[in-house]
Amino acid sequence: MRPAILDPLFAPLTSLKGIGPKLVKPFARLLDRAEPRVLDLLFHLPYSAIDRRARPKLAEVQADTIATVQVTVERHVPGRGRAPHRIIAADDTNTIEIIYFNLPRDRVEKMFPVGETRYVSGRVGLYDGRLQMVHPDRVVDEKGLADLPLVEPVYSLTEGLGAGIVRRAAQGAVARLRDLPEWFDPAFVKLRSFGPFADSLRRLHHPQEPMDVAPASGLRARLAYDELLAHQLALALVRSEMRREPGRSSRGDGRMRRAIEGAIPFSLTNAQRKAIEEITADLASDTRMLRLLQGDVGSGKTLVALLAAAAVIEAGRQAAIMAPTEILARQHHARITPLAEAAGIRLGILTGRERGPAREKLLDELAAGEIDLLVGTHALFQEGVEFHDLAFAVVDEQHRFGVHQRLALASKGPAVDLLVMTATPIPRTLVLTYFGDMDVSELREKPAGRTPIDTRTVSLERLDEVVEAVGRALAEGARAYWICPLVEESEIVDLAAAEERFQYLRARFGKKVGLVHGQMRPAERDEAMAAFAEGTTPLLVATTVIEVGVDVPEATIMVIEQAERFGLAQLHQLRGRVGRGQGRSTCLLLFKPPLGESAKRRLSKLRETDDGFLIAEEDLALRGEGEVLGTRQSGLPGFKIARPELHRDLLEAARKDAALIVSRDPTLSSERGRALRLLLHLFDRDEAVRLIEAG
Ligand code: ADP
Ligand code: MG
Repeated sequence: MRPAILDPLFAPLTSLKGIGPKLVKPFARLLDRAEPRVLDLLFHLPYSAIDRRARPKLAEVQADTIATVQVTVERHVPGRGRAPHRIIAADDTNTIEIIYFNLPRDRVEKMFPVGETRYVSGRVGLYDGRLQMVHPDRVVDEKGLADLPLVEPVYSLTEGLGAGIVRRAAQGAVARLRDLPEWFDPAFVKLRSFGPFADSLRRLHHPQEPMDVAPASGLRARLAYDELLAHQLALALVRSEMRREPGRSSRGDGRMRRAIEGAIPFSLTNAQRKAIEEITADLASDTRMLRLLQGDVGSGKTLVALLAAAAVIEAGRQAAIMAPTEILARQHHARITPLAEAAGIRLGILTGRERGPAREKLLDELAAGEIDLLVGTHALFQEGVEFHDLAFAVVDEQHRFGVHQRLALASKGPAVDLLVMTATPIPRTLVLTYFGDMDVSELREKPAGRTPIDTRTVSLERLDEVVEAVGRALAEGARAYWICPLVEESEIVDLAAAEERFQYLRARFGKKVGLVHGQMRPAERDEAMAAFAEGTTPLLVATTVIEVGVDVPEATIMVIEQAERFGLAQLHQLRGRVGRGQGRSTCLLLFKPPLGESAKRRLSKLRETDDGFLIAEEDLALRGEGEVLGTRQSGLPGFKIARPELHRDLLEAARKDAALIVSRDPTLSSERGRALRLLLHLFDRDEAVRLIEAG
């Protein structure tokens, strides 16, 4: 089904020269895909480039820059014991020391024969007034110089992958790339001065100017538009497909809803009432529902979903709630159980853990209509899961599911009404462009009786005081998170920082301190989280690579280091991990002075409000001003290349473009349509292709 022209790109990464099975794991981590393909590496774009074009004389070299210098090797000073091996080299203006740790003497001497000329490239430092270069990136002779890329791409790395391996692999991937027919509208290509898809990728991996790989580069914009259009087109195709089939009207009599309301010890917020009204009106109408429910963590989305489900169940049909993880599915199930009992709703749970006869029994009951509401994970839409009459499906934390997973769930019944929920508020201006044509309900109001989280900014210079304060709280039985930021583009460096902080706190608090990070195996991670939840390690050091997703109501302290490096929305999400229980909670935003104007504004916004919607809007506005954040912290969820702060206008253009394409050529059969199918495949939106082929 996939056009053969794309096959070389979909081959496993191991089909590239020099990538053996041992490298699969680190590449899987780097590319965030269990079985990485050539394609995934192609979209792993360099985040910067080293310019080796300048050939300064040693006297002109600036310290702390990367330079390529032409030098004559004068002599070697071999290291003794732990001392490094030093090479003294010079040009006619100055001398430089080239330094190697832990490299066999004969190897270094072979690289630098005395009396010969070498071109040496790397970061130049100034030490005691002398120029130094520690472990040059490149050492070549006259002949090698010709092959040295003048502008060299720099990629983010992960443990077990050096810069050289990633660079060579990326070049191997680029060599697989064939020219493809243009899928953009020719007028648009001209207007934007976009080059062809394959050329743009080639040039990003073989930059000719450092500007080529800059965040705002035109090459990147082309690829961002590719990605955005693929996404919007998939959404538009799904939407038009869903609209082809008429919806069904599910109208309950209210008895179960009244029973549930009677069983909860509080009353619904106005925002919840309004959302439920909007949803039940959709359910009762005979057009198919596709609605987004947005609300901060703790705003009470689960209850809204349950009450909406009850309306469908009153009408004699079934409903399903899908959560992204096993833990969340079980949490939902546990919370819903007493309410379901009160209302006479027959509840079931299905995750990967349900197996054997119990699973068979559940599936039989589901197919016979003896279960009204099924809660679970991805397992819900696997083959073999047959509903008697599914009318309403809820997808919680929707950004963690792909379009095809939502579709698969929606295809488990005739004209299923779909509600997707997210705790990451997205500014109104972005909803349409990000989610496509969807209706939106919002829970802006929080349930009453929540104590606001005491949020403070503290300079890192006062670290000692913070540690003392945390120590006092721990002594009184508190639980605290300590978040270390992602600063570098390299996980190894980030991890080193977290581990250092862990050791530091451990020296102070001993066994009370736990550590959890993204490089741990899932079982280890669960263990570390469980130890925190149980209180064995009441202080948990964590990197943001992991999602501190488990609900630990006892946690009342959140320390975030280098808060100035985070996006507002992310800080808000992290802060939301505390303030869930009875105790008064504190969030300490540690910053490294001096704080820039924009960072100051961001952090104080967070002190002022805990309204996720306001924060998201502010975040967008501030980022729009060009605030530079680490790339990993500012992407759109599910997107590899497109960035909201840089490509907003493209987002809107892609949405309009997609709508036009679907109205003119809904089966993608024209010449441009066939090219667009390639695009959908390239960005893994091919479920949309399958949809039009089936229809
Ligand atoms: P969300 O899924 O939006 O993060 P939940 O649905 O998990 O939030 O609700 C968080 C907590 O708030 C739950 O313990 C829930 O029972 C409670 N809750 C929900 N609605 C209300 C309300 N109107 N008043 C008080 N508490 C509520
Ligand atoms: Mg929830």
